[in-house]
Amino acid sequence: MKIDIVSVFPEYFEVLNLSLLGKAQEKGLVEVTAHNLRDWTHDVHHSVDDTPVGGGAGMVMKPEVWSECLDELLHLEPTTVTCDSTADADDTASADAAESAESATEIAANADTVPATDRPVLIFPNPSAPLFTQQDATELSHANHLLFGCGRYEGYDARIPQYYRAQGVDVREYSIGDYVLNGGEVAVSVMLEAITRLLPGFMGNAASIVEESYTGENALLEHRQYTKPADWRGIKVPDVLLSGDHAKVDRFRRDEALAKTNKLRPDLIEALDCSKLDKADRKTLMALGWEVSGAHPRQR
Ligand code: SAM
Repeated sequence: MKIDIVSVFPEYFEVLNLSLLGKAQEKGLVEVTAHNLRDWTHDVHHSVDDTPVGGGAGMVMKPEVWSECLDELLHLEPTTVTCDSTADADDTASADAAESAESATEIAANADTVPATDRPVLIFPNPSAPLFTQQDATELSHANHLLFGCGRYEGYDARIPQYYRAQGVDVREYSIGDYVLNGGEVAVSVMLEAITRLLPGFMGNAASIVEESYTGENALLEHRQYTKPADWRGIKVPDVLLSGDHAKVDRFRRDEALAKTNKLRPDLIEALDCSKLDKADRKTLMALGWEVSGAHPRQR
C-alpha cells in the first residue's frame, strides 16, 4: 500500500517509523511518504492560508497550493469544473457518504474476498464530516494508494474536495470524534493505524484482529481481558477462565461482550442481525431486556 500524507508539519509523521508500522515499512508492506505542503508555494513566505471570504476569525487553507500539490501526487492536469459551490458540496458529500457506508458494510462482511483497488483515495480529516469507523478502516485497507491531506487553521477551502470529486477522484472526509483538534495530523495517524493493522502480514498473529471490538458481522465491544497472575492485589481472574473448558470460556466471554455492549453501546445491540445469533446469545439478550424475535433486537 502506498501512502502519501500532505501536511505543513511533515516531521510529525516520523513517529510512523516506530513500532508495527515501522516494521511494516521495513517489510515493504506499506510505503509512507510525508510531503510538506509549503513545497508547492511560490511566495517568499511560503504561505498556505488566507483570510476567510465573508469575514470571521482565523485563516483558511488556500485551494491553489493544495491543488498544485494534489495534481502532482495524483498525476492530474489542472482544469476547470462546473459545479454549484453551495448545493453540490453537501449533496455530493452525503451521496458519497451513503454510497461509501453501503460499500463499507458489504466489504466488512466479505473482507477476505474483496480485491485490492488501484484507484487512489483522497482523504481529508474534518471534524464536521461523518465519523470514521472500523468499517471505513476495513474498506480502505483494500486500497493500493491512500493520499491524506491534513487541514490546519480554520480548515481547508471547501472547494478542494468538491473539485477532486468532480474530477472523478474517490474523495472522503472523515471526523475521528466529536471534538476539535489543532490540525489533521493526529487524525491521519489514527486513521492510518486503524487501516494498516488490517493489512495481511501486518500483525504478527493474524487471529488477533478477527475477534476485536467493532469487527466483523454482528460487531460488539470485546469482553474484558486478563493475564497472569490469577490473583493480583486481591482481585481474582474469573474462575471459568482457569477451567480449561474452552466452550465455557467462549460462552463466558461472549456473554461479557453482550453485557458490556448493552451497557455502553446499545446502538450496536440494536444493529445486530438476530438470524446470526445462537440460542445462548438470545437467552443472554433477553435477560438483558431485549426482544429478539424480529430482524434486530428491540428494547423491551
Ligand atoms: N473550523 C473547523 C471546525 O470548526 O469544524 C475546525 C478546524 S481544525 C482547528 C483544523 C483541522 O484539524 C481541520 O481542518 C481538520 O483537518 C483537523 N481536525 C480537527 N478536529 C478533527 C476531528 N475531530 N476529526 C478529524 N480532523 C480534525
